[in-house]
Amino acid sequence: MKAAILCVGTELLFGQTVNTNATYISRQLQLLGFDVLYHHVVGDNPIRLERLIDICFEDCDLIITTGGLGPTEDDLTKEVIAKFVGDELVYDEVSLAGMKKYFSDTHRQMTKNNLKQALFPSKGKIFPNNVGTAPGFLSENDGKYIIALPGPPREMTTMFEKEIIPYLSERENAVLYYKIIRTYGIGESVLETVLMPLIHGQTDPTIATYAKEGECSLRVTSKRGTIEESKSAVEDMMVKIRNLIGEYIYSEDDEDMAEVLVKELNEKNLQLSSAESCTGGLFAGRITGVAGASKMFGRGYVTYSIESKVEDLGVDNLLIEKYSVVSGEVASEMAVKALEKSGSDVAVSVTGVAGPSDEGDIPAGKIYLGISWKDDRGNVKTKVQLMNSGRHDRKKNREYAVLAMMHMVLKLVRSL
Ligand code: AMP
Ligand code: MG
Repeated sequence: MKAAILCVGTELLFGQTVNTNATYISRQLQLLGFDVLYHHVVGDNPIRLERLIDICFEDCDLIITTGGLGPTEDDLTKEVIAKFVGDELVYDEVSLAGMKKYFSDTHRQMTKNNLKQALFPSKGKIFPNNVGTAPGFLSENDGKYIIALPGPPREMTTMFEKEIIPYLSERENAVLYYKIIRTYGIGESVLETVLMPLIHGQTDPTIATYAKEGECSLRVTSKRGTIEESKSAVEDMMVKIRNLIGEYIYSEDDEDMAEVLVKELNEKNLQLSSAESCTGGLFAGRITGVAGASKMFGRGYVTYSIESKVEDLGVDNLLIEKYSVVSGEVASEMAVKALEKSGSDVAVSVTGVAGPSDEGDIPAGKIYLGISWKDDRGNVKTKVQLMNSGRHDRKKNREYAVLAMMHMVLKLVRSL
């Protein structure tokens, strides 16, 4: 099927808003097996919008619009679509009730022009909006479809994931299946080189690699005659991928590392604590950002200054003087003390120079991680790892240190 994306909003033409909706929808449609032929942007102008719909329908089976569904005068997408397909706008009781509930739940006043958002073409389908007030809808035009989605990216993407993907997948694209695998500790070019025998000459399943902040993702996609065939082709490929890079895979379901960590610690009934210097609580923040962390997270010590390492954690000042605060010895001792003080099963620590400048003779990006846990016999074990990023980028150094800490814990937990 061929598709066009039509984004409505004068702010897009002014360059005030970046058209992220088009990029997102294009990627999603491609995954669903559509060929996207056009991206169009039009201001809040009904005549030009109508003209573009007409042009797109010349060679596309599906148009997806975003924007112009709001309550204000300039939001005209619904009116234009209804007119184009020869339909009329009528109130939808379900949307009206949903909207009233949304306003009362969020303690906001509903105004008269909000009512406009419960008006829809009388035929077709309405897609509820659970994170905002403007529902989306679908109208049919001579066997072709137009789907209208709200402009705000969060509302649009939520609706796309919850409503549009299932809807479109049920149609003729029901045969597409894909898996997103997340890896850590292997760069994109090495990953591609290792997987080259699988990537090369493969038309189905296809393997695509994406580099992200400090990690790499792989998408394995198959589109065969039936969904069962596509699934089984992806699963067969997964076996080969695991053989080649299994040790680097931390999720086969596109979960982020914090989610995986929280899940696996909970499964094993283990509690984790942290002692952070240069990341200042970023690690604890990331972990506690995941629902379910309350069960597996014990304490997060933020010991940024030397005094706090000594006074709050109980690290020996002489050790710091002897080896310097940025050392494997101090990282190790921070983890041991955090384990002892918290009574957790595992404690992880970090101390280093985030940058941007070097600290004396310690270069920015030199960061030690420590981990401490008790073995079967109750003996305290520790491990230390040096991350020498060579970077002067403070934000990246802190982010990558957190990722490395999470991975260090994950590796240990998987081995226990
Ligand atoms: P609207 O549904 O037209 O009222 O759009 C509401 C808001 O969504 C706009 O003010 C923009 O901030 C945002 N928005 C609309 N269209 C896009 C787009 N194509 N990409 C990113 N953001 C958008
Ligand atoms: Mg608008």
